[in-house]
Amino acid sequence: MKDNIHPEYKDCTVRCACGETFETKSVIDEMRIDICSKCHPFYTGRQKLVDTGGRVDKFKKRMQRGE
Ligand SMILES: [Zn+2]
Repeated sequence: MKDNIHPEYKDCTVRCACGETFETKSVIDEMRIDICSKCHPFYTGRQKLVDTGGRVDKFKKRMQRGE
């Protein structure tokens, strides 16, 4: 059992639905996303990628509507 109170930020492998993978920092080892900076230039900052998935979801829906 870990007795760490503070979450430990470690290297996190992010896997995008497009097949792109890259490293970032997170409390988890691996993360799956639906869109990345390689998919769309809107996502150029890693901070957005480690943000909540809801923002990405909203963005995806907007893309599907063709805006
Ligand atoms: Zn991608």
